[in-house]
Order: sequence, then structure tokens, then C-alpha cells
Amino acid sequence: MFAGHGSPMNAIEDNRFRRGMHEAAQTLPRPEAILCISAHWETEGVCLTASPAPATIHDFYGFPKALHEARYPAPGHPALARRVAGLLPGAQLDESRGFDHGCWGVLLPMYPDAQIPVVQLSLDRRLSAQQHYALARSLAPLREEGILILGSGNIVHNLGRIGFHSPQGAPWAVRFNRHVKQCILDNGIDALAAYDSFGPEAALSVPTPEHFLPLLYVLAVRRSDDHVQWFNDAELMNSLSMTSFVLTAKQGD
Ligand code: ZN
Repeated sequence: MFAGHGSPMNAIEDNRFRRGMHEAAQTLPRPEAILCISAHWETEGVCLTASPAPATIHDFYGFPKALHEARYPAPGHPALARRVAGLLPGAQLDESRGFDHGCWGVLLPMYPDAQIPVVQLSLDRRLSAQQHYALARSLAPLREEGILILGSGNIVHNLGRIGFHSPQGAPWAVRFNRHVKQCILDNGIDALAAYDSFGPEAALSVPTPEHFLPLLYVLAVRRSDDHVQWFNDAELMNSLSMTSFVLTAKQGD
């Protein structure tokens, strides 16, 4: 699944995006565990959360007290962290890192009982988009093991151009979001990994790569017969898109 997370308030506010995340989770078989790649954890080299009980990190400012008090007490899964580290040579285990809001902000709507173990995988900021995609392909065996691979970011994410009262996306945001959606439908990985060559819309929509890259992790574990099921498919606030999707295996798989 790729989930657009948008405002941290989507974690607790009763709105269409929170409901969309919740409903999308209901369409999936309940996973054994979740591996989350969030925009909000960038490191030098690849890291994995390896605490048995990761804390909830409130990595934002100026939001209501209820959001700062929200907790996501899902267990960690050190054995899964070691398993993933085995797939990604050089990956480091981090026993003190908790869950950032890109992770728990979507899991709270999706799985409010917080019973499914979660491991987070960081984004190595030294890698190019192509290198992220190549690395993420090593994660494909996890799909056979009941692990939900969850990318959390936003296809269009430019906080400097946010219009809080604008219900729609700017024309450039809509164009870029639609281009990316078409590439997803066409399985145009080369075009997605080279997203920055898609004209001025790309520079405006993806001013920094961290919210876009989780998308490549999800597409890297795609199978040729997967069906793309969209949810929360909207551009809004001028410079944000919430477009999200699930790759569902063919029935009986
Ligand atoms: Zn974010």
C-alpha cells in the first residue's frame, strides 16, 4: 500500500481521508506484520526499528493537544527487523527509534487496535531514486510472508505553497499527480524513478524527494498481475495530493 498521509491531523480527525485509510485497510487480509517506509525517517545508510516496544514520536509542532497526546502502542518486531536486515546488506538495527507520524498517523486510522507488529525502514538519503527502487526490490519475498509493505508519503507535497483554504490542487499539482498516476497504471518505473525530468511541475510538486520516495518502495514489490485499487484520490490545498493505492494480488494468490 502507498498511503498519502498529508496533515498529521488525519490521524485523529474524523474526515474523508481518515475514513478512506480505514476502509482501505478493511479490504486487505489482516497482515502478520507491517513494514513501513515513511517520509519522516531519513538516515545515512539504511536503518530498521528494532525495539520490541517503539515509542510514538510527535515529530510536528503547533497541533492540538489531542494529537500530541495520541499514542500508537503497536509492538515492534525485532525478528522481522533482523529478517529485513538480512535482505538489505549493511542495514543497521536501531533499538531506540520509535514510530514517526508518517507511520503511526496512517496506522491509527487503518488499524486502531494497534495489535499488529510494526517495523520501520528508513530512507537512506545518500541514494538516488533509481537506487531506492533497486534496494526496495529486495523486499519482494516479504509479500509471501504476510507482511504489509506500507509506503507513507505524498505524491505532491510542497508545504511552501500550501493554500490551507484552497479545496483544490493548483493546475501544476493536478498535472503532476495525474502523470504519476498514469505511470503507475502503465508500470512506468523508469519514468517514475526519473520523476524530476517531468518539467517544471515536478520541481514544484516534489521540491524534496522524501515524500515521493516511499511510492517507489511499494512499486518495487509489485507483481505483473497486481490490480491497482485507488483510494483518497484527491489534490487539494494547492500543493498536496492524497492519492493512495493498494496493490492487490490476483484472487486465490
Ligand atoms: Zn509528511
